[in-house]
Amino acid sequence: MDDNHSGSCLCGAVRFRTKGPLRGVIYCHCSQCRKQSGHFYAATNVADADIVIEGMENLTWYEASDFAKRGFCKTCGSVLFWKPKGDAYISVMAGSFEEPSGLQGECHIFVGDKGDYYSIEDGLPQFEKSAPSIKVAGG
Ligand SMILES: [Zn+2]
Ligand SMILES: [Zn+2]
Repeated sequence: MDDNHSGSCLCGAVRFRTKGPLRGVIYCHCSQCRKQSGHFYAATNVADADIVIEGMENLTWYEASDFAKRGFCKTCGSVLFWKPKGDAYISVMAGSFEEPSGLQGECHIFVGDKGDYYSIEDGLPQFEKSAPSIKVAGG
């Protein structure tokens, strides 16, 4: 099984390649993720050293908090990345990967902030805020 993956935004102006195993997908229901994406985040992550991003000049970073910034394509608006300050990893949206992605759901976080128009019924663990053990791929 090949552990290399690639992906892009909708228009293709931003592309990326990752190497090594990816973390399970974490669904974030916080209000920032819901506002920015229009629903909720579904993201894996990868160490900074294990991702190559092409078309960086087409990315816009929005600093929604002191803690992290959110990267999206300035042409098509696709949400691609979530980057915490001071940590050597980057979260990558599950929907941006080419298939087969090999990704699997892991848990839901910030369910205390979830939208009032849907329910979570996939049986995965749910956390009111952050999960106790969010890990970095390969770490
Ligand atoms: Zn794009
Ligand atoms: Zn969130």
